[in-house]
Amino acid sequence: MNAVNVDQAELTKFSSLAHRWWDVEGEFAPLHAINPLRLDWIDGIAPLSGRRVLDVGCGGGILADAMARKGADVLGIDLAEKSLMVAQLHALEAETPRIAYRQVAAEALADEMPGQFDVATCMEMLEHVPDPASIVRACAQLVRPGGWVFFSTINRNPKSFLLAIVGAEYLLGLVPRGTHEYARLLRPSELSQYGRDAGLDAQHSRGLEYNPLTGRYRLSGDTSVNYLLAARRPLAGT
Ligand code: SAH
Repeated sequence: MNAVNVDQAELTKFSSLAHRWWDVEGEFAPLHAINPLRLDWIDGIAPLSGRRVLDVGCGGGILADAMARKGADVLGIDLAEKSLMVAQLHALEAETPRIAYRQVAAEALADEMPGQFDVATCMEMLEHVPDPASIVRACAQLVRPGGWVFFSTINRNPKSFLLAIVGAEYLLGLVPRGTHEYARLLRPSELSQYGRDAGLDAQHSRGLEYNPLTGRYRLSGDTSVNYLLAARRPLAGT
């Protein structure tokens, strides 16, 4: 692994679109569309109000901002400076309470603030890093015993290739071409294994389905394309 677990080309890709983070009809429209779904799912499993929450790979802060509005004390981290500036600016303009952003790697923050969060979220990010297992380990270290870690990413199989890459990028134009690379997609079994290796217990998963006819997303039991996983760090001694 390189000293910092990052692919510069990925950061450049997101930085070049940074001014578009809060355009609900722009390149990040799908993230805005799925945000209420993932927010409610997280809040249903680990009620956010009054909790210390870390959002890893926060981008422009779409989820981080919404979690702060639910009453959480949120730190958003990313390595793309421009995105963090946009996130910060949005928080100032929207007067979002209890939110802070920092440019720091998850692994470095895990050394600095181990066990200091009740909840960590890492959404649509693992498929953009060279060593996803290292991010999972960092998230596991960052939450306290009994704390929750939430991931979302894209499954790797012929159907997800057709829907998430060919369909979403080339046919429907939902996300920019080249956003996702097939080899970096992660099967739920692989993600759960990374979690187990890091001492996390996978407890819940949901699929995230897009209906091209209605243009709407919904949570479902079908994890074959986009999915979310909730894992818990066991309480000490259990
Ligand atoms: N989590 C946000 C944004 C997802 S886009 C959301 O779901 O709304 C993926 C984000 O991961 C981008 O902001 C990108 O800059 C960030 N990213 C990519 N590699 C990273 C790394 N190694 N460390 C931290 N963030 C990274």
